[in-house]
Amino acid sequence: MERTTCCVVGGGPAGMVLGLLLARAGVAVTVLEKHGDFLRDFRGDTVHPSTLALLEELGLAERFAELPQRRVTTVRLPLGRDRSLVTVGDIGALRSTYNYIAMVPQWDLLNLLADEARREPSFSVRMSTEATSFLVERGRVTGVRYRTSDGGTGELRATLTVACDGRDSLARSRPELGLRRFDCPMDAWWFRLPRREGDPQGLVGGVGDRFLTAMIDRGDYWQCATLIPKGSDARRRAAGLDRFMADFTAAVPWLGDRTHAVRSWDEVKLLDVRLDRLHRWHRPGLLCIGDAAHAMSPVFGIGINLAVEDAVAAARYLVEPLRAGAVGLRDVRAVQRRRWPTAALTQALQRTAHARVIEPLLAGRSPFGNPRRAQRMTELITTSRWLNRVPAYFLAYGAVRERPPTASVR
Ligand SMILES: Cc1cc2nc3c(=O)[nH]c(=O)nc-3n(C[C@H](O)[C@H](O)[C@H](O)COP(=O)(O)OP(=O)(O)OC[C@H]3O[C@@H](n4cnc5c(N)ncnc54)[C@H](O)[C@@H]3O)c2cc1C
Repeated sequence: MERTTCCVVGGGPAGMVLGLLLARAGVAVTVLEKHGDFLRDFRGDTVHPSTLALLEELGLAERFAELPQRRVTTVRLPLGRDRSLVTVGDIGALRSTYNYIAMVPQWDLLNLLADEARREPSFSVRMSTEATSFLVERGRVTGVRYRTSDGGTGELRATLTVACDGRDSLARSRPELGLRRFDCPMDAWWFRLPRREGDPQGLVGGVGDRFLTAMIDRGDYWQCATLIPKGSDARRRAAGLDRFMADFTAAVPWLGDRTHAVRSWDEVKLLDVRLDRLHRWHRPGLLCIGDAAHAMSPVFGIGINLAVEDAVAAARYLVEPLRAGAVGLRDVRAVQRRRWPTAALTQALQRTAHARVIEPLLAGRSPFGNPRRAQRMTELITTSRWLNRVPAYFLAYGAVRERPPTASVR
C-alpha cells in the first residue's frame, strides 16, 4: 500500500506552494498532477506583491527575478470620457519593496516551485497522474485512487488529502460541500498576436463598441483576452473571424496590422468564466483550497495569488497536526475560517465590477448606470489618493497577509 502524510491533488499554484512549504517543514508530501508538464497556454500570468514577498521569504527572490518577466505598476479600467482608460489602482505608488505586478508565464513559476521542492527529501511530485476518486473509510477521506497516463492505476493513502485541482475539482462531486454559483455576464476568448519593437509594454487594455479586450505582454507575442457576452461564443463565431478582427482592430488600432496572424477559429480559445465557491471547504480527512474551493473571475487577475495565499495559510495551520500525524476537523476548519472572508470579499468586488462595468459596456451602455454617474465615479477615483491607494493595496496584498510557517522559511 502506498502511503504519504499529505496527498496534494493538483500541481497548480496552490498545490505546488503547499507541497513546497510542507516538504520544507519535513512533512512527507506527494503532489499528483494529471498533466505531464506545467506548460499550459491557458493560464494566468500575474504574480502580485504578496506572492513576490512570499518568494523572498522562501529565499527564491533571486531565482524568480531571473525569469523572463514584465512589470505592471498600474491597473486601468475603461471608465474615462469616450471610454478612455483611467488608473484605478496605482500599485507603483505603494511604499513597499514590491510595488508592481510581475507578469510571468505561469509554467515558469510552477517549474521554479517544483525544482525547489524536489530538493526536499520528503517531497515527491507524480506527473501524468490523475486522481480519479477519493478513498473513504468510515466517513473519512483517507487518500485517492489514481490512474497514470500509461494506463496504470493505484491507491495513495494519506493522513490528509488537499484538493488543489482547480475549478473542476474532484471534491466538487461531494454534495455535502455545497457549491454556490454566481452569474457572470461574460466569457473570454484567448489568442496570440505577434509583438513588435515599439509596441507598448505590460498590460494594455482596449475598448470598442460592446467590446472589451486586454493584452498581456509576453515578450515576443501578445496574449490577448477579449470579453464576450456569456453564452455568445457560437453565435459570434458564426459571424466570422473577419468580423471579429475588424471589431478588435477598432478597439486596438495599433495591433490591427497583424490580426491576420490568427488564421482560424481554432487559434481562438474559449474560457468559460465562472465565479463560485464551496459552502464547506472540508470534511474529515479532506481540505479544498484555491480554485477548487472558490473559482475566481479573471477580473483583477487575482486568482493565482488567492490560491497561493490559501496554500500559505493551510501550511501554517496544518504543519504541526501533520507532523503529529493527526489532522482533526478543527484544523481544516480553521483554514476555511481564515481564508473564506478574503475569498468572499474578492468575489463580491468582482461581482460588482461585472454588474457595474463589464455588463453595461458589453451591452453598449455606460458603466455605473448613466454617463454622468460614470464621470463622477471616474473623477473620484482619479483625484482621490485614498480611493486610488485602497484598491492598489488590496490588489497587491489582498485583504489579509499570510505568512508561511517558520520551518519553511529560508
Ligand atoms: C485562461 C485563464 C486566464 C487566467 N488569468 C489569470 C490571471 O491573469 N491572473 C490570475 O491571478 N489568475 C488568472 N486566472 C485564474 C488562475 O489561473 C487560477 O485562479 C489559479 O491558477 C488557481 O490556482 P489553483 O492551483 O487553485 O488551480 P489550477 O491553476 O486550476 O491548478 C489545478 C491543477 O490541478 C490539476 N488537476 C486537475 N484535476 C486533477 C486531478 N484529478 N488529478 C491530478 N491533477 C489534477 C490541473 O492539471 C492543474 O495543474 C486565469 C485562469 C484562466 C483559465
